[in-house]
Amino acid sequence: MRPVSLLLRAVLLPALITLAPVSPAAAGDDPLGSWPLRPQPEVAARFDPPTSTYGAGHRGVDLLGHASEQVLAALPGRVTFAGTLAGLGVVVVSHGDTRTTYQPVAARVSVGDVVAEGAVIGALQPTGSHCAPRVCLHWGWLRDQTYLDPLLLVDAGPVRLLPLWRDLPAAPPPTGSWMPAPLPYARWRPVGWPA
Ligand SMILES: [Zn+2]
Repeated sequence: MRPVSLLLRAVLLPALITLAPVSPAAAGDDPLGSWPLRPQPEVAARFDPPTSTYGAGHRGVDLLGHASEQVLAALPGRVTFAGTLAGLGVVVVSHGDTRTTYQPVAARVSVGDVVAEGAVIGALQPTGSHCAPRVCLHWGWLRDQTYLDPLLLVDAGPVRLLPLWRDLPAAPPPTGSWMPAPLPYARWRPVGWPA
């Protein structure tokens, strides 16, 4: 076996596996859930997690739909909130250690209801849309107080595998992020790796 191949096996592959920022709930099991709108909606705005509790960002994704469209549970679970928050209809479904949120939605379920994946949980409302004047569902996914990318549930999230090195300056991950620390410096290579 050529030295480079040996190096790949001995150093590079384990390092890649270690660095891959896989969401714990989604590890190895994608896709775990299904789109809350059908047919598969257009993503109007992607996940942009805030770097602090009250920081700017987008704590979920916006999926284009139409008024009164059925909103479906992305995963099986139990309804833990169905009502209005700050004037917006919201449904929250708990799935063990994570929960999915749906708004603005007129709930058709009640707290305590057990819902199957794909079950109708409400109707999409035009008022309060993040895409106004278009109508869209703001879909969130959380573990405790940490916002996750819901598109990971439908295997449409960002590429998981990070390159071992990169040519751009390495910036530190946001505080509290699950991202691995940056490499020592840009253009870092394993020892003995051809330039
Ligand atoms: Zn949104």
